[in-house]
Amino acid sequence: MNAPRTRDTWQALADGLRIHTQAFIDGRFVDAASGRTFDCISPIDGRVLGRVAECEAEDIERAVAAARRSFEAGRWAEAKPAYRKKVLIRFAQLIEQYGDELAVLESLDMGKPVTDARAVDVAATIRCMAWTGEALDKVYGEVAATGPDELGLVTREPLGVVGAIVPWNFPMLMAVWKLAPALATGNSVVLKPSEKSPLTAIRLAEIAMEAGIPAGVFNVVPGFGKGAGEPLALHMDVDGLVFTGSTAVGKHLLQCAGRSNMKRAYMECGGKSPNIVFADAPDLEQAAKAAAGGIFYNQGEVCTAASRLLVERSIKDAFVAAVVEAGRAMQPRHPLDPGAPMGAMVDEGQTARVLDYIAKGQADGGRLLLGGKRADIVPGGCYIEPTIFDGVEHGHTIAREEIFGPVLSVIAFDDEADALRMANDTEYGLAAGVWTRDIGRAHRVARKLRAGSVWVNYWDGGDMTAPFGGYKQSGNGRDKSLHAFEKYTEVKATWINLAT
Ligand code: NAD
Repeated sequence: MNAPRTRDTWQALADGLRIHTQAFIDGRFVDAASGRTFDCISPIDGRVLGRVAECEAEDIERAVAAARRSFEAGRWAEAKPAYRKKVLIRFAQLIEQYGDELAVLESLDMGKPVTDARAVDVAATIRCMAWTGEALDKVYGEVAATGPDELGLVTREPLGVVGAIVPWNFPMLMAVWKLAPALATGNSVVLKPSEKSPLTAIRLAEIAMEAGIPAGVFNVVPGFGKGAGEPLALHMDVDGLVFTGSTAVGKHLLQCAGRSNMKRAYMECGGKSPNIVFADAPDLEQAAKAAAGGIFYNQGEVCTAASRLLVERSIKDAFVAAVVEAGRAMQPRHPLDPGAPMGAMVDEGQTARVLDYIAKGQADGGRLLLGGKRADIVPGGCYIEPTIFDGVEHGHTIAREEIFGPVLSVIAFDDEADALRMANDTEYGLAAGVWTRDIGRAHRVARKLRAGSVWVNYWDGGDMTAPFGGYKQSGNGRDKSLHAFEKYTEVKATWINLAT
């Protein structure tokens, strides 16, 4: 067993990192065709980590062509499932082997605490890849009900070339939520990571080759949304488009699919999740800690952030005081400090956006109970204090829009119907929580919440064994579990005449 890492040993690892900055196309690292690069800046201290290849239409063309060639060649798509399984499990083992390096790369690139990157991002990435690899040869087709003279087979086939566009808040994990089921079902993939966090995706491509994924089956094209994402979304030879990111971009990508070749398109988008605490919650102290953790974890840059705290009026003041105490203990620190509760925001743009929302919250009449300012943790870095607003009304901007930062809105409710009305009155439907010891109410409320994930008496439960995704404008389709395979396959019915 290795000794737990200290700030110094994480720093030494960070200082010695070999950072890849090129695109990865057809099994090779390459520059963008234009030779252009963009600066990859660490929000920890504003340092330039590298100059990353800025892929554009010509690079997308090359990557899609490589993916198509590899798909048609069949080395991966037509390999025996047992073989694909072996390779994906090897892929998971290598991610484990390089786990510390990947964690520190993620932390440097997007500012999250390295301990979280190791314990959550890397661990969940390994689990996703290994679970999906294990599952892939346990999926069967169907035989239709027929008379004796015919045989109806229902089989699943890979889509072909899948374009994946992912965000920056869990860069590697979101990429692997797409990559693992896409590869498991035999597709070839072109992945566009966020321009704010491209480094782990590029490293993953190299690890994929080491695991035995054939050249061309997994390509990575770093670049911007307009320059690289859009040509991928509009490409006539891309069969499937999978996306995690904002609702605005998700809607635009659905249009791109429609305007081009009607590629299969699945969007995992934003959220404004309600966390409903009834006065009869089994353990209010635990509920208060979870309410703070649910919004401040990962600096609030979580699609399922518990950003709306709906509290029954009779306990509101005492409960909120406990949430404030729990929040106060979650101040940002240097992301390489082991156990830092919060790290840096992803960049200056996101920092400014969140501070702007805080100003709006105050202008609308919200009462600031905690935080509300930029924090001076490391010179040149992007840090915001954990922030809590009381007295927020359901119609206030900070209660309706996704802030994607460490800002909690507290809203009081009077009864179950009032709580449900506010919880569901949102364009989003990603997740929701309910705290009560009344089992009837727990089921009743869980059933009525219009959200893809509902948690009772905790926040953010989940595993590869269950699907994850949104209702309403939080998206369509599901990541994780066997349901994820549905996005990457076509269903074919084959009829055989047995009477000849
Ligand atoms: P974003 O929508 O700005 O960007 C996501 C990706 O889309 C990036 O790679 C970006 O370059 C690309 N993109 C942007 N404009 C594009 C265009 N015109 N054409 C093609 N691609 C384009 O989102 P973000 O700021 O990176 O991430 C935050 C958002 O992601 C939040 O809304 C969050 O809720 C959501 N998210 C959702 C889930 C989920 O599973 N539902 C998980 C994580 C994050």
